[in-house]
Amino acid sequence: MGEAWTDQFADAPDVLKSTPEQQTVVCAGKVAIGGGEFVTMAGPCSVETERQLMETAEHVARCGARVLRGGAFKPRSSPYAFQGLGLDGLKLLAAARAATGLAIVTEVMAAADAPLVAEYADILQIGSRSMENYALLEAAAHTGRPILLKRGMVAAVADLLRSAQCVFSHGNPNVILCERGIRTFETATRNTFDVSAIVVLREVSHLPVIADPSHAAGRRSLVPGLARSAVAAGADGLIVEVHPHPEQAWSDGEQSLTFNEFESMMADLAPWCELRAVAPASVQRALETMV
Ligand code: PEP
Ligand code: MN
Repeated sequence: MGEAWTDQFADAPDVLKSTPEQQTVVCAGKVAIGGGEFVTMAGPCSVETERQLMETAEHVARCGARVLRGGAFKPRSSPYAFQGLGLDGLKLLAAARAATGLAIVTEVMAAADAPLVAEYADILQIGSRSMENYALLEAAAHTGRPILLKRGMVAAVADLLRSAQCVFSHGNPNVILCERGIRTFETATRNTFDVSAIVVLREVSHLPVIADPSHAAGRRSLVPGLARSAVAAGADGLIVEVHPHPEQAWSDGEQSLTFNEFESMMADLAPWCELRAVAPASVQRALETMV
């Protein structure tokens, strides 16, 4: 017979489980990711204005989100599109944290910016386009902040784990993996949400795994359904785009949920999350009543 299928992960030994129960819990501020609580990170694609960010932060916090997302440095497909507010955006994120208690996740795009972004953020996001930027991974790792590592849009699961290993090798074991959709021949969605990657990652790695249904879907109507499938697949959390007026958003408006849509999605997810939390005990009870 051939080699074990897990041999493809041999370059990422530190992020693989050594026992089926091994699970890393990543702490960011007062939030624990991978520790049993389903953690929702939500906010606009880009930080635009104080009012936009504050209103969104307050709303998502009221609906149960624990982490505020928002890009201050934006990777854009066009060099002429809005590139982010930079330091002013980071300051607005810090103000939103002070007002709401939410932890902050924001993207770092350049190695030289890592110390600055780490001054303001609780979690550093490495974007899909940067997953294999090893100089950036090293600089982000050295800040000591937890790293939210997004899967590259043409990266295999093994490539994602290799990049996580790279962060580990620079002394930072606090990595959260994120499935955000991959490029396929399908054009009905912006990317193809690879729900099987969530299941594979949960099986082979001890790192927390979250899902980004917004960038996978590309259209807001699809986001709640993909989010539900992420919960059912065993994800430890979500990162979702929300905007007070998506039609006026400076980036990714088509996939951003309105406030009402986010509220409904959170209400819809609640029983699924509860089921996920109680499943092992209820299964145990069911087994006990069978004997
Ligand atoms: C984002 O989170 O806004 C983003 C640009 O995501 P990705 O890197 O997954 O495209
Ligand atoms: Mn976006």
